[in-house]
Amino acid sequence: MELDSKPISISLDRNEKNSSLAFISHAHSDHIAAAKSKKKPKIISSLETCSLINAVYGLNPELYESESSNDGISMLDAGHMLGSKQLCIDAGNGRTVYTGDYQMQRSMVSKPLDYTDADTLIMDSTYPDPDIKFGDRAETEMLLQEWTEKRLDEGIVLFGSYAMGKAQEIISILNKIGITPAVSRKIFEVNKVYVKYGYNLKSYPAYDTPDDTSIFSDNFVGVIENNMLKRVSEMLYASHKKHVFTAVATGFAKVYKFSTDAQFAISDHADFNQAIELVERVKPRKIYTYGNNDVKFAHNLSNAGYPAAPYPGGKTITIE
Ligand SMILES: [Zn+2]
Repeated sequence: MELDSKPISISLDRNEKNSSLAFISHAHSDHIAAAKSKKKPKIISSLETCSLINAVYGLNPELYESESSNDGISMLDAGHMLGSKQLCIDAGNGRTVYTGDYQMQRSMVSKPLDYTDADTLIMDSTYPDPDIKFGDRAETEMLLQEWTEKRLDEGIVLFGSYAMGKAQEIISILNKIGITPAVSRKIFEVNKVYVKYGYNLKSYPAYDTPDDTSIFSDNFVGVIENNMLKRVSEMLYASHKKHVFTAVATGFAKVYKFSTDAQFAISDHADFNQAIELVERVKPRKIYTYGNNDVKFAHNLSNAGYPAAPYPGGKTITIE
């Protein structure tokens, strides 16, 4: 790839027609449009993200490989899930960092967020509201563990989750207290990629007959996709004649009431105060907000004394 023919336009977690490159910050489905594109732009991403995209969607994105180390393009860990990265561009107008989805608190199944000084910071806007505050992660994890152990004495416990990222987080929290959950086919496939990259997740594939069939004769814990939760809990109740307790673990537990027995506010995103923590570390001259809620987030950041505006560059970043 020749980068001499500037300007170069890079799609940011999207697939924009006029971009020669696309940055995929991580493998969640709403970020991988460029990997699905027939035009097949070269992808700036991590090997872990490419492995997940391959395992889950059966796609083979072609990675951009820089021909020189001074092409101005680099990545930083984002702390959101396996392989999640921020994009860092050094160009004539200084350094710009685009966060993608990011997380400031330490997760057990992701490298911690890394940061650098930058002139411009383009921030994901998932939680734009100062009223949404995530508590101490270790404490919330302990609540989840205690609730699970208690309910497991009385019946079957079922967690609904995104298959990628959050499911592995829940599994690692359960593994920590010696629980090996049964999981869906998709979650088991994702787990294999995590294991390949060094995360020691223990789970049973619920769709096969496990070697140790006793797991299903006794009470057990399952982790499955959100959209299967209701159906599978009804099915398990019918076949096992036991109470099936359901739960979710998501940052949206701070926003919505879910129709489950329990909800735990464990997020793989930064809340508003953590976003400010990132701004304080990066010390940008300009702050832009990106994605859904960008207007609200910019407004609330400005009110808090951090002048910000919705990103004016569309869905791309340009190296002049
Ligand atoms: Zn995400």
